[in-house]
Amino acid sequence: MTEARVLIVGAGPVGMTAAAYLANEGIPVTIIDAHRDVPTDLRASTFHPPTLDMLDRFGIGQKCVEQGLICPHWQFRDRREGVIATFDLSLLKGETNHPYRLQCEQWKLSLLLRDWLQAHPNAELIFGARAIDVTQNDDGVTLTVEREDGSHEKMSGRYMVSADGARSNIRKALGVTFEGMTIPEIFLSMSTTFPFQDAIADLSNIAYISDPDEWVVLLRTPSLWRVLLPTDPNETPEQMKAPARVEERLQAVFPKAEPYDVVHSVEYRVHEKVAENYVVGRVFLAGDAAHLNNPLGGMGMNGGIHDAMNLAEKLTKVWQGEPLSLMGRYERQRRKVAVETVQAQSLRNRSILNERRPDARRAYHDDLRATVEDPARHKAYVMRSSLIQSLNDLEGVE
Ligand SMILES: Cc1cc2nc3c(=O)[nH]c(=O)nc-3n(C[C@H](O)[C@H](O)[C@H](O)COP(=O)(O)OP(=O)(O)OC[C@H]3O[C@@H](n4cnc5c(N)ncnc54)[C@H](O)[C@@H]3O)c2cc1C
Repeated sequence: MTEARVLIVGAGPVGMTAAAYLANEGIPVTIIDAHRDVPTDLRASTFHPPTLDMLDRFGIGQKCVEQGLICPHWQFRDRREGVIATFDLSLLKGETNHPYRLQCEQWKLSLLLRDWLQAHPNAELIFGARAIDVTQNDDGVTLTVEREDGSHEKMSGRYMVSADGARSNIRKALGVTFEGMTIPEIFLSMSTTFPFQDAIADLSNIAYISDPDEWVVLLRTPSLWRVLLPTDPNETPEQMKAPARVEERLQAVFPKAEPYDVVHSVEYRVHEKVAENYVVGRVFLAGDAAHLNNPLGGMGMNGGIHDAMNLAEKLTKVWQGEPLSLMGRYERQRRKVAVETVQAQSLRNRSILNERRPDARRAYHDDLRATVEDPARHKAYVMRSSLIQSLNDLEGVE
């Protein structure tokens, strides 16, 4: 007998947001995660305005704001030329309740969502359980999970959300194609207590800095600065994170007499992929399980949370009696955003930063300068970069 609940695989920000929406609508949810708790390592740190608007539904947007750093501006810069263009998010007043980017570590959101769900009567969180297979019929889904002691268990539910991240076992079990490209350079993210804001003139808290030899992204969080650099894939992780190598690379970003105080360094390989299907019968893919992109623009976690809200809103209607075919619109809407907005913009951001040809660099820079000087283009740009435009455009996707 199928249990009257929605199974959610993955207690990342995407799975837990979908769970919070459904639980709030009176729908029982069981979230399972392979780990013993939510991860607290350094991952995404940017929240775009509509994501905060969405999280306000659970009282969590405001809590993120309280624990984060409000950033009304962000910049494109060049290592040699300095500021190219400063984007002003206050132009978004009237479009959002949060006309700024918030710099707040992903793990803070994860802990807030976990605590919210653990206190909710409709939500059950099970850690230490790895999903390994799924089958389905006309009534529901059956999930096979493996516990930490190696034992297997079957769980049933009417529907399932696969929010189990980039290596999604569920996506693989369903045979969904996940094609795309892998970016050649490794992304190395380091964090330091060094106050770049006092050292680099006119630096915004979020700065994408182009250079023909080596781009760099500087992102400030409430307590640290994060420095993101492209790294030669021929270096091993041990070589790229060796203290002397990290010091050498940070000194190349901003030379100073004292050594850098480095708090974390993490390397990761970046893929640009979108799943062929987001909906397979009663199973719905969302977040990194459905799409991967480079982090330039901070759209991975944000796009995933937008998936979760769209999916959960439609699944609530299906739960209440509307046809399952409604979920097809979730796929059409959110897959289009992944391809046409998230992937297209993050690839464009990478090409602006990476461009080596002098003429093309000048053209990018001139275009960025002209964009911020023209109020209508400036607003249109920040509507797109903050993902508000992608949400407004969804109505046109049947
Ligand atoms: C090192 C690193 C740095 C990053 N930096 C940035 C950044 O700077 N900017 C940016 O925008 N994005 C960044 N990202 C990407 C961002 O973190 C993801 O887009 C975001 O976490 C997606 O959320 P999610 O909930 O879809 O998946 P995840 O956060 O990956 O959550 C998936 C969850 O599923 C669980 N799980 C996986 N498989 C199973 C299974 N078989 N059974 C049960 N549970 C399972 C995992 O334990 C995990 O808790 C980074 C990612 C990494 C790994």
